[in-house]
Amino acid sequence: MLKLKNVETFYGNIQALKGVSIDISEGEIITLIGANGAGKTTTLMSICGIVPPRTGEILFLGEPIHQLSPNKIVSLGICQVPEGRRIFPYLTVLENLDMGAFLRNDKAGIKHDIEHMFELFPILAERRHQAGGTLSGGEQQMLALSRALMARPRLLLMDEPSLGLAPLVVRQIFEIIRKINTESNTTIFLVEQNANLALKVAHRGYVMENGRITLSDSADRLLANEDVKRAYLGL
Ligand code: ATP
Repeated sequence: MLKLKNVETFYGNIQALKGVSIDISEGEIITLIGANGAGKTTTLMSICGIVPPRTGEILFLGEPIHQLSPNKIVSLGICQVPEGRRIFPYLTVLENLDMGAFLRNDKAGIKHDIEHMFELFPILAERRHQAGGTLSGGEQQMLALSRALMARPRLLLMDEPSLGLAPLVVRQIFEIIRKINTESNTTIFLVEQNANLALKVAHRGYVMENGRITLSDSADRLLANEDVKRAYLGL
C-alpha cells in the first residue's frame, strides 16, 4: 500500500533521512521505533508531504506521492495524528470531529461516524460540548485520533500516541488502535518510543538509527531480539 524507496530528507544542510526504505501492506499495523532524533517524525513528515524528500520515491497504492502537496496527499486517504495532539483548543469536541470530516459531504455518514467515535471513546460523548483545550491529555489524544478517523483514512499515521500519558490511558489508546485496525481494516503506521507496547500491537516493525533503517522483522521477532531488548525495551 505504501512504499518508501531510498528516501533522503533534509532540513537545510542537515540530512535527517539517509536512504530509508519501508513497505507497508494493506491491513497491517507497522511500527517504527528508534531513539530521540533518529528520524521517526521526519519519516512521517516526508510521507505527508510536509517535509518532502530530496531524493527517493514514496508510492501510495502504486502511485508516486512524494511531489504532491499535503492537501492532495490527505485527499488520497492518508491522515496523520501528529505528536502533541494538536486539536483545535477553542472548538468543542463535536466541532473538532466535524473538522476531521471537512473533505466529506455525506451528512448521514458523518453523523454515523461521530456516534461510532462516541462508542469507541465514551468520555468524548460526555464532553461533546466542552472546548477541546479543556480536556485532559489522554482525552485530547482520543479526540485527535477520532478526528483523524473522521476522514475515513485508508492509512493512518500516528506520531507517539503514548507521549506524556498515564499508563492506563496508553493501554486504552493501544487497544483502540488494534480495534480500528481489525474492525475497519485501516492500515496503521505507528511511530513510537514506547517500543514495548508498539511492538505488542504491531504486526511488523522497523528500527531506525541516525536516519537509517537498521533492522526490520515481525513484531514477535523484534520483541525477542537481544539488541532490541537492550536498546529499546530496557531489558
Ligand atoms: P523524537 O523521538 O525525539 O521526536 P525523531 O526520531 O522523531 O525524534 P526527528 O524529529 O525526525 O527524530 O529528527 C531527526 C533529525 O532531524 C534530528 O537530528 C533533528 O535534530 C533534525 N530535525 C528535525 N526537525 C528539524 C528542523 N525543523 N530543522 C532542523 N533539523 C531538524
